[in-house]
Amino acid sequence: MAEVLCAWCGSWIREGEIDHSHGICPACYRRLRGIPDLSEAELDELPFGVIVLAGDGLVLAYNRAEEELAGRRSQDVIGRNFFTEVAPCTSVQAFQGQFTAFCQGPEPSRTFQFTFRFPAGPVKVQILFLHKAVGCVVVVRRLG
Ligand SMILES: [Zn+2]
Repeated sequence: MAEVLCAWCGSWIREGEIDHSHGICPACYRRLRGIPDLSEAELDELPFGVIVLAGDGLVLAYNRAEEELAGRRSQDVIGRNFFTEVAPCTSVQAFQGQFTAFCQGPEPSRTFQFTFRFPAGPVKVQILFLHKAVGCVVVVRRLG
């Protein structure tokens, strides 16, 4: 099997190291797996966006990096529905469909690329879904 690049940091992943991480290298995966356990203050210190969503899409937390990426303030989005009110461009199979399937399924994580249609213009990102006791965590890393 050919070597692959880590979907998160872009470094090479050695054969045999990708079994449980879905294309993310072990070092990135260890760090990313801890995100659901962080406090909101700790989430604000991360260099990439984090959105905590209830299973029905209600926004439970929205960190500082995501505020900057999306040009929104957390107090304007927490308590609203992410798919219908906050980011309608995500109410498609390629995002919401994946989210629903992930939240209800057994996979520990899922990652894919997506393009947000922000008012200021499109932004291509790498998305990572993780489970949390209540709902799911969406991690967003800007590409390019
Ligand atoms: Zn990596």
